[in-house]
Amino acid sequence: MAGLIAARELFRQGIDVLVLESAARPGGRMMAETSALGSRLDLGGQWVGHGHHRFAALAAELGAELFPMHTPKRPAVVDGPRRVSAMNPAMLAAHTVLLAWELRAKRAAPGKWASQTVGAWLRNVPGRTTRRLLEVLVAVTTTADLDRYSMHAFAGAVRHQGGLKAMLSTDGGAQEKLIVDGAGTLTDRLAAGLGERVLTGRRVTAIHHDDSGATLHTTGGALRAARVIVTVPPPMSARIAYDPPLPESRTMLERNTYMGSVYKAIAVYEHPFWRQRTGHGEFMLLAHPGGAVFDTTPPGGPGHLCILVAGTEARELDRTDAEGRRQALLGQLVPHIGAEALAPAGWHEKSWHLDEHVGGGYAALATPGTTDGYLPMPSQSVGALHWAGTETAFEHAGYIEGAIQSGERAAREVIKSLRGTAT
Ligand SMILES: Cc1cc2nc3c(=O)[nH]c(=O)nc-3n(C[C@H](O)[C@H](O)[C@H](O)COP(=O)(O)OP(=O)(O)OC[C@H]3O[C@@H](n4cnc5c(N)ncnc54)[C@H](O)[C@@H]3O)c2cc1C
Repeated sequence: MAGLIAARELFRQGIDVLVLESAARPGGRMMAETSALGSRLDLGGQWVGHGHHRFAALAAELGAELFPMHTPKRPAVVDGPRRVSAMNPAMLAAHTVLLAWELRAKRAAPGKWASQTVGAWLRNVPGRTTRRLLEVLVAVTTTADLDRYSMHAFAGAVRHQGGLKAMLSTDGGAQEKLIVDGAGTLTDRLAAGLGERVLTGRRVTAIHHDDSGATLHTTGGALRAARVIVTVPPPMSARIAYDPPLPESRTMLERNTYMGSVYKAIAVYEHPFWRQRTGHGEFMLLAHPGGAVFDTTPPGGPGHLCILVAGTEARELDRTDAEGRRQALLGQLVPHIGAEALAPAGWHEKSWHLDEHVGGGYAALATPGTTDGYLPMPSQSVGALHWAGTETAFEHAGYIEGAIQSGERAAREVIKSLRGTAT
C-alpha cells in the first residue's frame, strides 16, 4: 500500500516511477480472495478503523463500499466448552489489569517496564483464566511473542494508537468497518491503475547509492533511479545489501526489530447461522490455540467467520495440516454455536510469518531492551534513499491508514528533493 500510494502520487506529478515488488502479486500485507460462494474476503489487513480517514477516502475514490461490523457490546469469552461470564471474578480482574495498563501507558517513562517482557509480567498474574485472557488479548492485538516484547514497547504502542479501548473495540475502534469487495481490492486497483509501472517478481537484493541516485540490483536485472523509496519494514530491509552501508542508527533499527507472527482464517457458510443462536459471532478463545473470532459477514451474506491466532500460538499451528487447524479452531466454537460450525462451504487461511516476501504481520516489533523499533519508526532519508511503510507513519502506524500516510509523505519528500533537479 505505501509503495503503490507513493508511486501513484509521483506519477500524478509527472515523475517517471516504477514499483519493484518481490512477490508475484502486489498488495503485501493486504490480500483479498473470492470464496466458493462468490463473496470477497481478506486474508490480510481488512478493517477500516475509526478515524482512518485516508483509508476511507481511498476506498470511496476507488469505488469500494464500506459496511459496519455486526458486533455485540462485548465478545463472548469461551474456554473450551465453558463460557466465562462477564461477572466472573477472573473477568473482573482482567478488566482491572486492562484499566491499570491503560492509565500506565499514558506515562512515557519506562520505569520497571523497560526490562520486563509482557510474558514475564503476565506470569505474576494470579488466576489462569485472567492470565490467559490477557495473554490472548495482547498476542492478538500486537502479534508479538510475549517473551520477546517489553511492557514498555506495548505501552508505547497503546499510547500511539490512542489507548487500549481504541485498539480493542469494533464500534468506535480499530475494527469498525469492512469493505464489501475486500480491503485487498484497493491495492489490486491501485496496481492496475499503475499498469506496467508495477513489476512483480522483482526482489531488490542490493542498493548502491550516492547523493545523485542509486543502482538497484534485483532478481530481474539492475536499474538506475534518481531517488528510491524503500517501503519494506525494517526487518525486511535488513535482507537488502546497502553500499555504502546505512548509518548505524538505521542498521540498529533493522537488527532490533522482528515481524510479528499471525495466522488468519475465514470460514464461509451459506448463512450467518450463529446469529439466530447467540445474536453475534464474536468470541475470545482461551483454550489452545487461543485467538479471536469476528463475524465479518458482508451485507446479504454469505456468513463469514474471521479467526485470528497470533504470536507463538500462530507458529504452533504450522505443525499441523489445514484440516487439523480447522478442527482445532472451529471445534472450539461447536459448544457455543453448534456442529454446523464444522462444515463451512469454504475455508481460507494464511500464516503470514511463513510469507517469504512479507515476513509476518501485523507489523514490525521492537525486541526487548531497546527503543529502536517504537512507533512511529524513523524515516530520515539517507542521500537518495527515502523510507516509507506503515511502521513510519506519524498517525496509525501499523495500520493500512499508516501505510497510506507514509506513502503520501515519502512522495512529498521525493518531489521536494527533486525540485530543481532534472528527472
Ligand atoms: C493478518 C493481518 C491482518 C491485518 N489486519 C489489519 C486491519 O484489519 N486493518 C489495518 O488497518 N491493518 C491491518 N493489518 C496491517 C496492514 O495490513 C499493514 O499495516 C499494511 O498493509 C502495510 O502496508 P505497507 O505498504 O507498509 O507494507 P507491506 O504490505 O508489507 O508492503 C511491503 C511490500 O514489499 C515487498 N517486498 C519485501 N521485500 C522486498 C524486496 N527486497 N524487494 C522488493 N519488494 C519487497 C513485499 O512483498 C510487500 O509487498 C493486518 C496485517 C495482517 C498481516
